[in-house]
Amino acid sequence: MSTSSSVSSPQQLQSHTCKWGLSAKCFTATTIENGGRRFYKCRRLGSNSCGYWNWFDEKLPPHESMMIHSQKVKLDSIRKNDVVWFVLH
Ligand SMILES: [Zn+2]
Repeated sequence: MSTSSSVSSPQQLQSHTCKWGLSAKCFTATTIENGGRRFYKCRRLGSNSCGYWNWFDEKLPPHESMMIHSQKVKLDSIRKNDVVWFVLH
């Protein structure tokens, strides 16, 4: 009889709870160093935040983060142009 019952890890990242006891929100970083890297953060903003913050992904290779960052910058400028176009139209 084989006892190959692998213990299913209970610590699967489904709910990250912040210090307020709220479920932390998942964000994607778009900085040069960490572009595309996801992290969990307190869903409350500013002074209401408990300061909870945790990386979800491993660090990406620098050139990938850089690429994602520049894509984000490009997207932002396109979106800005869209808004301007919409206002002028
Ligand atoms: Zn919190």
